Amino acid sequence: MDQLLGKLQKDFSGLVFAPGDVFSWSPTSKTIFYATADENEPLSCWSLLHELAHAALEHTTYSSDLELVRLEAAAWDKALELGKRYGQTIDPDHIQDCLDTYRDWLHHRSACPACTTTSFQVDERKYRCHNCDTTWTVSKTKLCRPYRRLVHLPQV
Ligand SMILES: [Zn+2]
Ligand SMILES: [Zn+2]
Repeated sequence: MDQLLGKLQKDFSGLVFAPGDVFSWSPTSKTIFYATADENEPLSCWSLLHELAHAALEHTTYSSDLELVRLEAAAWDKALELGKRYGQTIDPDHIQDCLDTYRDWLHHRSACPACTTTSFQVDERKYRCHNCDTTWTVSKTKLCRPYRRLVHLPQV
């Protein structure tokens, strides 16, 4: 990943690249954090490109869980494109696994605890069931949860 990181730092001089615990993108400080402990190639390169894609697409906030899932899909599309430029072929199965993690998480959050009907989000923290009128709250989400499937499944 070091080689790719060096190229990206040169080509995207408006962004800060800093070591961190997990791969993530901070829109406020325009910083891409990369996990130094993650030496799994080429996965770490793909994660880096994914975060760069969020930065390139200027993803900052989102107002619903569904929108978050859409942003994640858009970031992978962009990562594929960036990957071509840097000689990285991102495995489509990896992308599907990552997006499935988000879809499973969304499904879990949006299922009514009383009758399991898939329901609509009312605001950032609240869902309401259109079938039985139950409401429930969910935790605030963050862009870019870690991607290892089922190991780091985002908390509901
Ligand atoms: Zn219900
Ligand atoms: Zn992401």
